[in-house]
Amino acid sequence: MSAPALSHSDPEPSVAELIAARPHLAMHAFDGLVLEGVPLARIVAELGTPVWVYSAGTMRARLASLTAALAGLDAHIHYAVKANDHLAVLRVFAGGGAGADVVSEGELRRARQAGIAPGHIVFSGVGKTEAELRMALAEGIYQINIESPAELALISAVATSMGRTARVALRINPDVDAGTHAKITTGKAENKFGVPYEQAAALYAHAASLPGVEPVGLALHIGSQILAMAPYRAAFARAAELVRTLRAQGHTVSRMDCGGGLGIGYRDEPGGSPAALAGAMRAAFGAMDLTLMVEPGRWLVGPAGLLLASVVLVKGEDRFVVIDAAMNDLIRPAMYDAWHGIVPLAAGNAVGAERLVDIVGPVCETGDTFATGRAMPPLRPGARLAILDAGAYGAVMSSTYNARPRAAAVLIDGTPKLITPRQAIEDLWSSEIVP
Ligand code: PLP
Repeated sequence: MSAPALSHSDPEPSVAELIAARPHLAMHAFDGLVLEGVPLARIVAELGTPVWVYSAGTMRARLASLTAALAGLDAHIHYAVKANDHLAVLRVFAGGGAGADVVSEGELRRARQAGIAPGHIVFSGVGKTEAELRMALAEGIYQINIESPAELALISAVATSMGRTARVALRINPDVDAGTHAKITTGKAENKFGVPYEQAAALYAHAASLPGVEPVGLALHIGSQILAMAPYRAAFARAAELVRTLRAQGHTVSRMDCGGGLGIGYRDEPGGSPAALAGAMRAAFGAMDLTLMVEPGRWLVGPAGLLLASVVLVKGEDRFVVIDAAMNDLIRPAMYDAWHGIVPLAAGNAVGAERLVDIVGPVCETGDTFATGRAMPPLRPGARLAILDAGAYGAVMSSTYNARPRAAAVLIDGTPKLITPRQAIEDLWSSEIVP
C-alpha cells in the first residue's frame, strides 16, 4: 500500500505556489530549480548534499528595501549577526551599509573580521561577561545595551578601571506579547530579557549617576518572527512614554533601539512589512528627535538561503521520505515546530500526482522531521530537494549531533562561490584529547 492520495482540502501551498511567491527562485524545464539564475543541480553535482546555498542578490535587495522604508528617519540598520554569522554574509550586509548587532565576543570579533567598524556595532544580550564588556569597551563600539542592575554595576566598574566611558542603552522589557512562538518571545514580563518597565526610570537615573557610564537611550526587542504590527506599536508607545518621563526628569535620551523581530512568510502568510515597521517607528518616535536603530536578522537573510538535500530512501509504504539533511543541520522544525517549504530540484520531480509524505532526516530522534503529511510529487532515492527560507537560524544553529559533519555552504553572487567547505569527518575528533 502506498501513502494516501492528496486530499483537496489540504491548505498548504503547492510546489508551484511556493516558487511563484519567491522572486529569487524559478523552475526551468531543463535546469530545474534556479536561484538567482544559477541551476542548483549544478552546485549539488559539484559539492554533494547537504549544502547551504545563499543568494547575495536577495540579501542586498531586502536590505535596500528596508533602507528605503526607513528613509526620512534618522534610523540605522544593525544586522543581527546571530541569524547568519558567515563572514561572507556579514560582508554583503556591511557592503549595503548595515552595521551589526552582536551578542557575544565571538560575534563581535566576527563583525570586526568582516570589516564592520566598531562605530557601527551594538552589543546586546542578557549575560555579557566581564571579559566581553572589556573587549567591547576596548574596541570602542557604538553602544552596549544593558539588561540588568548587575550588568550596569559591572560595566561601570570595568569602564572605570579602563579609564573609559561606556555609552549604554537600557533594554526595557515592555511586557508586550509579540504573538510569536513561546521560545522566541522576549518582551513579556516573565521572559528573562531586559529591565522591568516599572524599574527602568530609576535604573536610568542610577546609570546617569555612575562613573564610567553614559546612558544614551533605550532599547527593546520583543521577539522574533513577528508578523503583526500591534505588538510593535504597543512596545514603541511604552518606550516613547518612558523617553518623555526621563526627559522630564532632566535626563538625556538621544537613541532608541527598536530591536529586530520582523517575520517572513514561511508558508503562505504575508511576511512582515518594512514600510509598516517604519510607519510604527515614525508614529511613536518621529517627532522625538531620537536616533533610531533596528536590529533585523531573519527578515534580511531568511528568504535568501536554501538547504539542499538528497532523498536517501523511501520507507513505510511510501510514507517516509528519508533525506540526507537532518535536525543537526536545520533545527527549526524540531525546535520551533517551524514549517519550511520543500521543493524538488528537478523539474521532472516537481510534477506528478502528489502524495502525503513525511520528510525526515536520518538522526535518531522522532523530532528529526522536516515535514509531516506534506503533499509532494513522487520522490525516489537520489531525488534532490531544496528546503526553503533557511538562511536565518539555519547553519548558525547546526551541530555535529550523531557525528554528522557540518554541511558545505555556497554564496551565489553573480556566480556561485564556495564559502564553507564540507567539514571533514576527521575534524569531528581532531581537537579532542584522550587522556
Ligand atoms: N536583536 C536582539 C536583541 C535579539 O535577541 C534578536 C534575536 O532574537 C534580534 C535582534 C534579531 O531578531 P530577528 O532575527 O527576529 O530579526
